[in-house]
Amino acid sequence: MAVFSLSDFADHEQVVFVSDDKSGLKAIIAVHNSNLGPALGGCRMWPYASEEEAVRDVLRLSRGMTYKSAMARLKLGGGKSVIIGNPRTDKTPALLAAFARALEQLNGRYIAAEDSGTSVADMKYMTQFTRHVAGIHDKPSDEGTRSGDPSPATAYGTFVGIQTAVKERLGRDSLEGLRVAVQGVGNVGFDLARQLGEAGVKLWVTDIHREPLVQAGKELGATVVAPEEIFGLDVDVFAPCALGAILNDSTIPQLKAKIVAGAANNQLAEPRHGLELMKRGILYAPDYVINAGGIIDVYHERIGFERAALIRHIEGIRDNLMEVFERAREEDRPTAEVADAIAEERFRR
Ligand code: NAD
Repeated sequence: MAVFSLSDFADHEQVVFVSDDKSGLKAIIAVHNSNLGPALGGCRMWPYASEEEAVRDVLRLSRGMTYKSAMARLKLGGGKSVIIGNPRTDKTPALLAAFARALEQLNGRYIAAEDSGTSVADMKYMTQFTRHVAGIHDKPSDEGTRSGDPSPATAYGTFVGIQTAVKERLGRDSLEGLRVAVQGVGNVGFDLARQLGEAGVKLWVTDIHREPLVQAGKELGATVVAPEEIFGLDVDVFAPCALGAILNDSTIPQLKAKIVAGAANNQLAEPRHGLELMKRGILYAPDYVINAGGIIDVYHERIGFERAALIRHIEGIRDNLMEVFERAREEDRPTAEVADAIAEERFRR
């Protein structure tokens, strides 16, 4: 496989392939850009069908982290890592230790955090072997303390982002009485739905698992729909909080919502789908702008956690989105394209 010539390789500073025979570790660590600081990003463990798929995934994700952190004005670069394997069956203490030792050798150029297939507990375990993991400390919260899990911060940032998009597209300061469809009521989606409900929103939710749906119905009074029904609902806002590439040729024509604003990463199947949404008069809140609460949370843990400062920083998502929306309006361009241009101005400066 030719790595340098892959389109996803573009501009990467460093890509490290790691293996360890004893534990069976096969991992790739990608540092996309470190102009603004050390590259911080999640460590994903996934049973990739091929090495090529793993390479593409890590390159695409690490590039995305550069844009997300630059947009959120963090002194961080962009990076990501993937461990090839099934997290349920292949993740052993020896494998995590081998991965952590590889991190230590990079001397802080890349800092790992939890992601799909890895947990806060895994990150804590790795601190025995490396200093370069993040998202591990308990923090004060409304309920007393919470773990290093950044999901509540992501949910709050997404809530602020929905308020901002509603102001821009519908000219309303309040969410009261609006209709919102949430796709995926996992860690982020459930908490977001709760906040929306508290703000007087009428909710529709879907998931592929029954348990969180039953809970959302019972605790939040949300209407539960089947996964394929979520796109075509007559709602004001569609909030994707499940998986990527859900804005595509088959789903966009079904949308009746005037706003797409949710936490999922990589929502546009292809960049051209941003233009497609714009042509239909649907305002898209670019994913990495609205879902930056998690990385902001991890960043604050590193610089000395202070809750009020964290909340101010997360609420800065409003200003970032406003800048994107205003420029997109003035230049008559898709919001995703404008967000990329602003992020590039910030990390290439
Ligand atoms: P999660 O795994 O806790 O929740 C995702 C939920 O989506 C699960 O309940 C899952 O069953 C459901 N789901 C999966 N496929 C679905 C489908 N086809 N239709 C409906 N529901 C489906 O994950 P999370 O931590 O809540 O993250 C949600 C999204 O937000 C992901 O795309 C993630 O990358 C992104 N994100 C999360 C964070 C964070 O802090 N957790 C930060 C930034 C971005």
